[in-house]
Amino acid sequence: MAASVKDLVLIFQLFFPRDLSSARALHANQRREPRQPARTGWFKTVKTLLVRAFSEESNDVAAWTSGLGGDRAEEYAESLCRDLDKLYLLLGLPEGTKFSQSAFDFRRAKPILTTARLNCTFCPPGDSNLVPTLHRRRWDKIQTVWLLDSSFHWVEATLITYTSPPGTHSRWERLEYDPEFLRISKHGIWVHKQIAQTQENALHQFHSGWSNFADWRLFLEHFSRRLLVAHNKDTTFRCEAHPSSRLLAEEVHRTIGINGGVLPSSMSHGCTGCTRVKRYHSDLIGEGAVLGSNTEVANTSGAEAAGDQIQTDLGDLAPLPANLPDSLPQLEAPPVGSLRGYIQMAVMDGKGIKHRQEVGEGSIQAPQGPSLRVQLQALGNTPGGDVIHTFKAKSIYCLQTVQWACGVPIGWGKCYRSESAPQVLRFLNNTWADYPNSRPSFLAYDNACNLLRHIVTQDPSDIWLATTKFIVDAWHYIGHQATDILCRTRCNPAPTDGSQPDLVLTEADDNGQVHQTRAFNTETAEQLNSWLNGFESQLRQMSDVNYDFFIHVLMLIYAETMEKRIQLKEMELTEEFWDRVNGLA
Ligand SMILES: [Zn+2]
Ligand SMILES: [Zn+2]
Ligand SMILES: [Zn+2]
Ligand SMILES: [Zn+2]
Repeated sequence: MAASVKDLVLIFQLFFPRDLSSARALHANQRREPRQPARTGWFKTVKTLLVRAFSEESNDVAAWTSGLGGDRAEEYAESLCRDLDKLYLLLGLPEGTKFSQSAFDFRRAKPILTTARLNCTFCPPGDSNLVPTLHRRRWDKIQTVWLLDSSFHWVEATLITYTSPPGTHSRWERLEYDPEFLRISKHGIWVHKQIAQTQENALHQFHSGWSNFADWRLFLEHFSRRLLVAHNKDTTFRCEAHPSSRLLAEEVHRTIGINGGVLPSSMSHGCTGCTRVKRYHSDLIGEGAVLGSNTEVANTSGAEAAGDQIQTDLGDLAPLPANLPDSLPQLEAPPVGSLRGYIQMAVMDGKGIKHRQEVGEGSIQAPQGPSLRVQLQALGNTPGGDVIHTFKAKSIYCLQTVQWACGVPIGWGKCYRSESAPQVLRFLNNTWADYPNSRPSFLAYDNACNLLRHIVTQDPSDIWLATTKFIVDAWHYIGHQATDILCRTRCNPAPTDGSQPDLVLTEADDNGQVHQTRAFNTETAEQLNSWLNGFESQLRQMSDVNYDFFIHVLMLIYAETMEKRIQLKEMELTEEFWDRVNGLA
């Protein structure tokens, strides 16, 4: 896997904007020394640049741990150059670079780009479609095109196209979902799939966005396919042949979700981080738990959590909504001979990651030219600046996400103007509309009490009240329980009175004393937030369509990464788990 510096330079060109000074300098330097052998030339160039990068520190003796000053710059540059291999590994490049080891430039045969199919893919298999039916039209020329091959070299390639027999299908095109080569320009520019894969890795590892993708069209071609397959739309997706980039982005976005999305695979997800065998009151007692109060939170200590001191003020509180059903019935123990069942915890959050503000609904194009702000005249007593406010109907307030407690994302949506309970409820309804049986048993949300109040008030028979318990986080609970009786009685994340055995586990200390601890760690959900935050400045510049497309991509990549991690940590649900769920063990 000896990766050459030439490959590094190519990576610089692909991942970093052209106007970045280091990339420019690399070109300039190479041009100045034309007779340098290709590899050592680049190597010296990179080293020189790295030494130069350290030049400011060179004069600053204190900056170097050795206290020796700038002569260390050379040494650091050397060792950085030696670390190139690791960079390649991180990008998943060894596959692509292994062919370019040779110092000799063997002339390889021109690659041929053509379909792997022999028959019309639209005709049903049958007598008329048995023998190879694809053919070349007499007037179709063999084209020479440019190809960025798997070892990151531009080469000439031969493009040969085949068509269906004359008739209805000869003008149809099939979107191939796992092609080896992607066309990124009508004018004969093709790219090996390895390039797209490498850039996908960079997106994940370095938060490099599509502006750093070699080409926007490559990003679009690659991820349109990835998204359509992940959303099970690959067999039904249709669009105009030879779509423009804008049309393709719009059609894909329309197909998999406008202003929000759901990852179908997450609806059947389960792992030990989010899914547990159902627990009963009798389990807690059996484990020797010392029961506390309904308002005490497991794992928190001190008077602030006990809630004793606030009992006296309860008279001033607003009563519970009349519609709120009495506490949901709790089974003392699993009924003999029946399923024990399982429960699953989800976490919802809103984050201030916005896109460009646009006027009107579903606008496709980036607004160009003068903004409304300067065109609007003052109306009556309202100055022009304030009038605009009513026009910014679709100013996004936050990105709403819901994920399983283990971190696997489920879906996303948007809130406008504020993270209001009606919008959040609509988001939940949309997310589980096609998956009514996959609703979480518990939903942790930092404003769960207000959401619950809204649900009860608008419809006391709302299905959410039967399927899901809404809980807040411990800090919210400790602060809010004094002033909100609904929060106090319904949203405790881990009550110690035995009323929610699923939310607490027991643990014996050295003295044999049994303590209750929280069963779920919802902090894992925070990792998605910090990962998404790395893309915030890019997302802020985007139109709503591009933002949606990009969030769909980010959610997919994140879900796949989490699933891999779960496999690696062996957190999948085992046979034994299902036996216990089914009451067999
Ligand atoms: Zn056909
Ligand atoms: Zn999970
Ligand atoms: Zn929040
Ligand atoms: Zn509350």
